[in-house]
Amino acid sequence: MTSSLEARLVELEAASRPLDPDPAGRAALFGPVFDYAERFLDALPSLPAYVVTMDKGRGVLDLQFREDGRSIERVLSVLGDQVDRPGLNPASGGHLGYIPGGGLYASALADYLADITNRYPGVFFSSPGATRVEHQVVRWTADMVGFPAGAGGTLASGGSIANLICLAAARDAHGIRSRDVERVVVYLSSQTHHCITKNLRLLGLGECVLRYLPLDQRFRIRAEALASQIEADRRAGLSPWLLVASAGSTDVGAIDPLDSLADLAAEHRLWYHVDAAYGGYFLLVPGMRERFRGIERADSTVLDPHKTLFLPYGLGIALVRDQATLAQAFRSDAPYLQDTLTEREEDSPADLSPELTRPFRGLRLWLPLLVHGLAPFRASLEEKLLLTQWLHAELRTRGWEVGPEPDLSVITYRWVPDGLDPELVNRLNARVVELIKQDGRVYVSSTLIEGRYTIRYAGVTHRTHLTTVRLLLDLLEGFAGQAQRELVAPGAGAGVRSTV
Ligand SMILES: *Cc1c(COP(=O)(O)O)cnc(C)c1O
Repeated sequence: MTSSLEARLVELEAASRPLDPDPAGRAALFGPVFDYAERFLDALPSLPAYVVTMDKGRGVLDLQFREDGRSIERVLSVLGDQVDRPGLNPASGGHLGYIPGGGLYASALADYLADITNRYPGVFFSSPGATRVEHQVVRWTADMVGFPAGAGGTLASGGSIANLICLAAARDAHGIRSRDVERVVVYLSSQTHHCITKNLRLLGLGECVLRYLPLDQRFRIRAEALASQIEADRRAGLSPWLLVASAGSTDVGAIDPLDSLADLAAEHRLWYHVDAAYGGYFLLVPGMRERFRGIERADSTVLDPHKTLFLPYGLGIALVRDQATLAQAFRSDAPYLQDTLTEREEDSPADLSPELTRPFRGLRLWLPLLVHGLAPFRASLEEKLLLTQWLHAELRTRGWEVGPEPDLSVITYRWVPDGLDPELVNRLNARVVELIKQDGRVYVSSTLIEGRYTIRYAGVTHRTHLTTVRLLLDLLEGFAGQAQRELVAPGAGAGVRSTV
């Protein structure tokens, strides 16, 4: 019996050996993977930002899971053809559509190391060093925001979850219980990222009262409208609770009047949350502090290194001005964790987060900040701001209808030939976006602003430069002309206003 059990164990050990390759086995995997990554990066400057294909990656299904393995080369070839080709290429500098893109090489290497060593950053006792790394990147971000010494934070997978974490802290700090929900009021705007209302639902607050505040011409909350709304709500027996401002709205890049809103939040004892997922790291650019004045007075804020520090997807930071509010929302003990409680020199990240087991996310920010230093980040962010101003001015000069001057690195614009009805103008601009997507060298996205189809530019990758934006401008001009020829009957009196 024993001997047959032991014999089976020996067999199983041998059969599972591929899971833990020896040096030769590791080299056989790593070599092709490294070569694949190098080929991708070498080709990247000339790779399209969008590829339209007929089969849309369906060939992934040619590889079914089976008992025996396949060569890494075979798997990488499917990855290359079916995954890394069709659709959007966010690693490309020509990705000018949605906000996150890019992907720092040094972060990829940090992820590799974090995955190899698999250090657990959740509990100080388990990895005091990893915990300190995580606290260091949180502290650095909190200092940049201007938060006080008692501030704290946690590393999440992205901005949506970081916002969820902050809203949970806000709920518990104000002692909101299930039976209060219908009387609780949240102040926000139509520019607020949709993850806020999604998160309210997730937190059991879906039935709270939402007050969408009026905006000025530049899509910023009109602070003066807030005071009277709060007073009216109080008179109606409601409980004003949360004010959400955007420091860089996703849609148009607008920064709300953070300081005036902070005054009102303080006066009316609201929890003041500033969603700076997209915009916050522009604070690194000299001279930008003023534009964000008031963010340091928030009760909580969110910044996304996977947006404006160019990291690969997977890192958002939730910050609170008083770390105790995070602990109140998330601290939870269990008897099987008793051995972890012996060392408490630093707080444990797991006590400040809904997650227990999670990757060592701090390393993907810590390592690039150390090896590159801060200067290249500041330079690339300033480049993004100036490119946006340049494009805005060029588009206006060339006769495009442009949205407000950029606060950050997003602008909106549309092609509006004289004498066309609004519906045709919408179709014309939609056609321009479609032609750009088919061409593929750059990718732009669209939005609806007060019912008008509007083209967006969002510049947030470290690989986007003047040549990229010049190319965009050329394509826009060419395709606006082509779309107009296609859609507008000859002789309809729609003159091309472009100067080129
Ligand atoms: C992108 C964004 C989010 C959501 O963050 P993810 O990282 O995409 O989950 C939230 N708020 C704002 C302002 C954003 O730009």
